[in-house]
Amino acid sequence: MKISQLFGNGKCVFSCEVFPPKKNMPADTIYTTLDSLKALDPAFISVTYGAGGTDGDNITGEIASYIKNELGVESCAHLTCVSNTREDIDILLDDLKKRGIENILALRGDINPERPPKHDFNYACELISYIREKGDFHISAACYPECHIEAPDMITDIRHLKEKVDAGAEHLMSQLFFDNNIFFEFLEKARIAGVNVPIEAGIMPVVNKKQIERMVSMCGASLPAKFSRMMAKYENSPEALRDAGIAYAVDQITDLIAGGVDGIHLYTMNNPYVAEKIYSAVKGLLK
Ligand code: FAD
Repeated sequence: MKISQLFGNGKCVFSCEVFPPKKNMPADTIYTTLDSLKALDPAFISVTYGAGGTDGDNITGEIASYIKNELGVESCAHLTCVSNTREDIDILLDDLKKRGIENILALRGDINPERPPKHDFNYACELISYIREKGDFHISAACYPECHIEAPDMITDIRHLKEKVDAGAEHLMSQLFFDNNIFFEFLEKARIAGVNVPIEAGIMPVVNKKQIERMVSMCGASLPAKFSRMMAKYENSPEALRDAGIAYAVDQITDLIAGGVDGIHLYTMNNPYVAEKIYSAVKGLLK
């Protein structure tokens, strides 16, 4: 099923994101994680592609195929273009098609100084147009409630977001954020700019201090005082920090659903325990 068909019935869509196992991790762990995530009844599970600018063999396609064809849950394969030539993208699209994958999150990808851009595609909107020409895929794209880190200002970034929608993106998933007011303000600006496709809010629960420091330095998410107090109080107590992180994510999701958000995209960090706790707390609100 195409992701665009999941929206429009007045309910908040709940989806999850996983990443392929790191090279030093046993490959099987991802399948155990996915088996556990199925119990959360996600509308779809998306799988990252070469995140951090690493090499992308098509392990993403393999995992997305497992989700769809073995678990029976809809899947979405992320695909980045900055380090791929047109021929590379053709091969990846063929592979996804053969595996029966219908949904792609089309991204530019981060610029990795060690892997110079290939320049066949400079921005995600170019990849979106290309996929649109190539096949019958549903295309999602990324959006940034606090502005993409390279964009000069929010208005410019939203103008580029609109270009992605005009090129064929039918659904957006947001960068993580910890302050819902920022997300609601972004939503208002995007709608005024004519971005009228469903926008899912990306929620990343705090699992440990290092993870949050890394994510915040990469994407520049601002931290509300309430969040910083929590980090300061529990930073040396991993279990308490995890529980506080779960409570914070539940609070954020509750408020977002009350505000009428189209969907919640949970960055699970491949941690089914945390994802399950969050889902159990909010599942009654998703109906
Ligand atoms: P774009 O939409 O191309 O935007 C990149 C920058 O260029 C922005 O500043 C934008 O304003 C600007 N821009 C866009 N079009 C133009 C134009 N025509 N002229 C001038 N400037 C322009 N990364 C991975 O490597 N793998 C993943 O699996 C992955 N998954 C992600 C999932 C989500 C939900 C999100 C939010 C991000 C994800 N990322 C992933 C990170 C993403 O690749 C980076 O944020 C990247 O830097 C931008 O990708 P984009 O597709 O948003 O780029």
